[in-house]
Amino acid sequence: MQAEERKKLEEESAELLAELGSLRNVLHGSWVVRYSTCSNRNCRCHRGEKHGPRRYLVVLEGGRQRQKYVPNCQVEAALAGVEEYRRALSMLDRLSEINIKMMKDRALKVRKIAKCKLPK
Ligand SMILES: [Zn+2]
Repeated sequence: MQAEERKKLEEESAELLAELGSLRNVLHGSWVVRYSTCSNRNCRCHRGEKHGPRRYLVVLEGGRQRQKYVPNCQVEAALAGVEEYRRALSMLDRLSEINIKMMKDRALKVRKIAKCKLPK
C-alpha cells in the first residue's frame, strides 16, 4: 500500500470514529405503527375510526421481542435514532474494510486501552 493511500484510509477511519461518537440517539429496533379499538362498544373506534396512530419500537431483550411505546413528543427523535443505528452499522462495516486493508499492509495498530483500578 502506498503511503498516500494509507494516509487517506487513516483519515477516513478517524472521520468515521468521530461520527460514530456523535450518534447520541441511536436506537436498535423495528418501527411499528398501530391503530386499535378500545373496550367501549359505543366508541367511534368500533365504527372504523380506530384510535391511533400509536408508535412502538420492537426490541430484543434477552432473546424476546418487546414493544416499547414511543410517546408522540419522542417520535421525531426516535425515528432519527433508528436511522442512526443503520448509519452506525454501515460505518462499522466500512471501518472493518479499512482495518482489513491495514492488517494486510501490517499497519493495523494496537490501541492501548486505559486500565482502571478496581475498588478494593
Ligand atoms: Zn375506542
